[in-house]
Amino acid sequence: MGTKERYENAAAELADVCARAGRNPADVVLVAVSKTVGPDEVACAIEAGARDFGENRPDQLMTKADQFTDVNWHFIGNIQSRRIRDIVGRAVLVHSLFEERHARKIDEVARERGIVQDVLLEVNVSGEESKSGRTPDDVRDLLEYCRSLKNVRVRGLMTMAPQGDSDIARKTFAGLRTLRDELASELPADEAESFSELSMGMSEDWREAVEEGATIVRVGRAIFSDAF
Ligand SMILES: *Cc1c(COP(=O)(O)O)cnc(C)c1O
Repeated sequence: MGTKERYENAAAELADVCARAGRNPADVVLVAVSKTVGPDEVACAIEAGARDFGENRPDQLMTKADQFTDVNWHFIGNIQSRRIRDIVGRAVLVHSLFEERHARKIDEVARERGIVQDVLLEVNVSGEESKSGRTPDDVRDLLEYCRSLKNVRVRGLMTMAPQGDSDIARKTFAGLRTLRDELASELPADEAESFSELSMGMSEDWREAVEEGATIVRVGRAIFSDAF
């Protein structure tokens, strides 16, 4: 099986899982995480219908986003201050913001360029030490800070679940959803409406994530690797 077929299978299964969960497939974006492959595989996925791609390194984001300009590029990796200029504007959505100083810099660059950068706040729901992100208790402060920035718009939350146990993954996803609902309920109505995204679920656990309300799933190996 090649990338084209694997993408088609993933998209079809996503539609099935949505239907069974009583959700509209149009409400869940499948982000194909192309970080391990080159442009040829990206082209295959586009041929199969992929419109959203994720990268975790600024270099890869730059080369691929500048080559494939008709699709959406998401930045899902570790943010470094000195690379923020390479990310802002190229990424339709930055999934991995969890530090004020990065928010401030994104705002500064976005303002210079006359755009508003959409971002998600990364939350370490499970408390695993190896995971980055804000603790659930600390997200409110960061959200408040971002609301004071005119060129950053927070669209929702992102998390990564511990791998290897689907029950724990499900609890992690449910926790992120509860947190989003709580934070949204504290926002003015117009802001609450655009604070709606839940980026959660990867190759191993995207099904559980969709059942728990994911609006964006980030799938790499299940699309780009024949070893998964
Ligand atoms: C690599 C990566 C993914 C995709 O992981 P797979 O297990 O290959 O599906 C999703 N999200 C983030 C943040 C990643 O770094």
